[in-house]
This record gives sequence, C-alpha cells and structure tokens, in this order.
Amino acid sequence: MNEAVEYAGLRKPFGKPLSANQAIQFPTVELMTQAEMLRLLIYKTAWEMDQMTGPEIQLYLSDKVSMCNYWANRFCCEAADWAMQVHGGMGYSRHKPFEHIYRHHRRYRITEGSEQIQMRNVAGHLFGFMGKNKPRGGEH
Ligand SMILES: Cc1cc2nc3c(=O)[nH]c(=O)nc-3n(C[C@H](O)[C@H](O)[C@H](O)COP(=O)(O)OP(=O)(O)OC[C@H]3O[C@@H](n4cnc5c(N)ncnc54)[C@H](O)[C@@H]3O)c2cc1C
Repeated sequence: MNEAVEYAGLRKPFGKPLSANQAIQFPTVELMTQAEMLRLLIYKTAWEMDQMTGPEIQLYLSDKVSMCNYWANRFCCEAADWAMQVHGGMGYSRHKPFEHIYRHHRRYRITEGSEQIQMRNVAGHLFGFMGKNKPRGGEH
C-alpha cells in the first residue's frame, strides 16, 4: 500500500499524477483505514495473549486470533490486488512484489485453517458451541 501511494504521486499519465484522481484516492483510503483497524486488533489480541496461559487463550481468545488470521490474509490479498492495479501493467509483472504477496496470502486463506474454519471458530464462540460461552457439564 505504501508503494502504491508513492507510485500514485510519481506516475503522471497525460501530465497529471494518478494521486489527483479520487478513483485512485478513495480505494486507497479504504484499505489504509482497514490496515489501521486490523493492526490495532492484532496488537490488542497479542497484548491480551501475553496476559493469559495457553488454556485460557483457547477458552477466551481463540475467536479473536481467528478474526486476526482470516481478516489479515484477506486484507493482504485486497491490498496487493489494489497495489497491482495502481501500478498498471508493471504491477502485474514480477518486477514488482505484488503478485507474489497476493499468491502467498491467497494460499493462507485456504491452508493452516481456511477462512471458513476461522469463521467457524468465531461463530462457535459467538453462539456458544465452543469457548467461554459453551455451557459446562451438559448438552448445549
Ligand atoms: C501451497 C499449499 C501447501 C500445503 N502444505 C501443507 C502441509 O505442509 N501440510 C499439510 O498437512 N497440508 C498442506 N496443505 C494442504 C492444506 O492443509 C489443505 O489444502 C487445507 O487443509 C484445505 O483442505 P482441502 O484442500 O482438502 O480443501 P477441502 O477440505 O476440500 O475444502 C474445500 C473448501 O471448502 C471449505 N470447507 C470445507 N469444509 C467446510 C465446511 N464444513 N463448511 C464450509 N466450508 C467448508 C474449505 O474452507 C475450502 O475453502 C497445503 C496446501 C497448499 C495449497
């Protein structure tokens, strides 16, 4: 995203910087806002993990870890895709890192706990099938 911002200021098709166009600005702003929110969720979750034991994390926090996981991988794909778009044809090529970043994080939306599996974990905590809201010692 930082590279996209820099490039949008440098590249001047027909004499005007890409960054002067709201069609370039607004999607960039949306992604930068998401990045800030995501970063804070990750810092907060990491800070809370530091206060807990492993079993407590499983009980009280694994839904937040799953939120960080699936949202961060999805965000990386969206950010890489947008950076590629801002860079035009060069962004698609391997002269820039975006296709690699996209492909790498696209994989993590499937492996090591796919998006659906992460969401299942969040839903389990939310609806009381697992985690701290699961009724103890009886049928749900
Ligand atoms: C690059 C790469 C490296 C890998 N490395 C390893 C490795 O080192 N070790 C290893 O053990 N495995 C590895 N894998 C395999 C990986 O763990 C599996 O691909 C992953 O667990 C998903 O299983 P699957 O491909 O069989 O998809 P499936 O289980 O067939 O699922 C297909 C899709 O349906 C979704 N889905 C599945 N069940 C449900 C459900 N109940 N509700 C809703 N959606 C559902 C999944 O999230 C997925 O999107 C690797 C895969 C890749 C692509």
